[in-house]
Amino acid sequence: MAKLGYPFTLGVASGEPLPDGVILWTRLAPEPLHPAQTGGMPGRAVGVAWQVAEDEAFSRVVQSGTAQAQPDWAHSVHVKVAGLRAGADYFYRFSLEGHVSPVGRTRTAPASASTDPVRFAFVSCQRYEHGHFTALRHLAAERPDVILHLGDYIYEYGKPANPGAGRYVRPLESTAECKTLGAYRNRYARYRMDADLQAAHAAAPWIAIPDDHEVRDNWGGALPGDGSGSAAFLKRRAAAFKAYYEHLPLRIRPTGASLQNYRWRPYGRVADFLLADARQYRQGSDMLGAAQERWLTARLTGSTARWKVLAQAVFFAQRRFPLEPSSSDAWDGFPGSRARVLAAAPDGLVVISGDVHAGWASDLRADWADATSKALGVEFVGPSVTSMPPITDASAILAINPHIAFFDSRHGYVSCTASMDGLRADYRAVSFVDRPGAPIATIAGFEVKDNRLHRLDV
Ligand code: FE
Ligand code: CA
Repeated sequence: MAKLGYPFTLGVASGEPLPDGVILWTRLAPEPLHPAQTGGMPGRAVGVAWQVAEDEAFSRVVQSGTAQAQPDWAHSVHVKVAGLRAGADYFYRFSLEGHVSPVGRTRTAPASASTDPVRFAFVSCQRYEHGHFTALRHLAAERPDVILHLGDYIYEYGKPANPGAGRYVRPLESTAECKTLGAYRNRYARYRMDADLQAAHAAAPWIAIPDDHEVRDNWGGALPGDGSGSAAFLKRRAAAFKAYYEHLPLRIRPTGASLQNYRWRPYGRVADFLLADARQYRQGSDMLGAAQERWLTARLTGSTARWKVLAQAVFFAQRRFPLEPSSSDAWDGFPGSRARVLAAAPDGLVVISGDVHAGWASDLRADWADATSKALGVEFVGPSVTSMPPITDASAILAINPHIAFFDSRHGYVSCTASMDGLRADYRAVSFVDRPGAPIATIAGFEVKDNRLHRLDV
């Protein structure tokens, strides 16, 4: 049997932190973009050795084992590690036939009684052809406790027929839009070869939810969003969700066209992360579907954590435009669902979102137009990592939406620290993405007090 080439070309990752464990991920791909033979791997299971240590030099290995990388899952491995200490850093690596992977750093969630501050960051919308993922390199250097990815991890589009239009910085191989499992797999492989994205995965555990472009632009429920029916679309969605799982450190595999995205990740007494799926269960005027909405409202009202961080993909607050109608692809298209979520809003609600390729920050109010109405929490919408922002007349939008306090269309991420005393969010931005090497700067900072935004000097 021929010896494999270096198989860890897509890096390593960890995710889904619990107080006693994490998921460790890698995918074997000696030829990541092989057009016919997935990852350039043979069609048989391969055993991959893994180690978890307390130190970066692996002198104190606490767990080790062998995971089977199966051809049916593109030779990805998702190792469920349990029995670790809460709120602790660990280091991990994989090896195969004398090849050793890069080392990843991960961190378990704190114990349920912990009041230690939680450092988290969130990102979204990383379109490969729109620029360099420099922001992710800076995020890696911050080594937060956990990184939340709020969707558009890939974009399904093919290489444009006319690359002269718009910003087209890094070429894709194919002009074809991803529709098949093989095409989605190679798109993820293309992204995961990026050194900055690999650095962000190797620096901290991730909790990820997909939005639309992991499958198709603006899909919702069982429909693709282009007017065609659901039968072919559900096959495509099954392929897309399978490839998503194969490339992210998730706990739960998809079943056909279904992927369980809504879930609860507790971080001690400080924060409950509530991940919601604002796309898969849409039907008519219902954003979440009955089962998810019951789960979410019960979790919101039952949470005893200081902060309830509702992480989901799309713009939550009301956002009126001067000329066009409000977005039907955001919560503005589902006002009844939003009102029911807000009716369950506990003290300490912080919604985090992506999707719109610009940073926004809003107060959530019982009456959007009335600054004296009950403060229900805040929303931080993160900027894109690279995806081009739409042309927006922000000052006109801010003028007619008094609850929205902030807009900025630069690329980057949001870094947050939650403690028993407060929650702070800093918008960090790079000044360019069309070439590597941009520095990072904090462009705005907010503190949440009495369920309202307070702008900080930065
Ligand atoms: Fe996007
Ligand atoms: Ca989106």
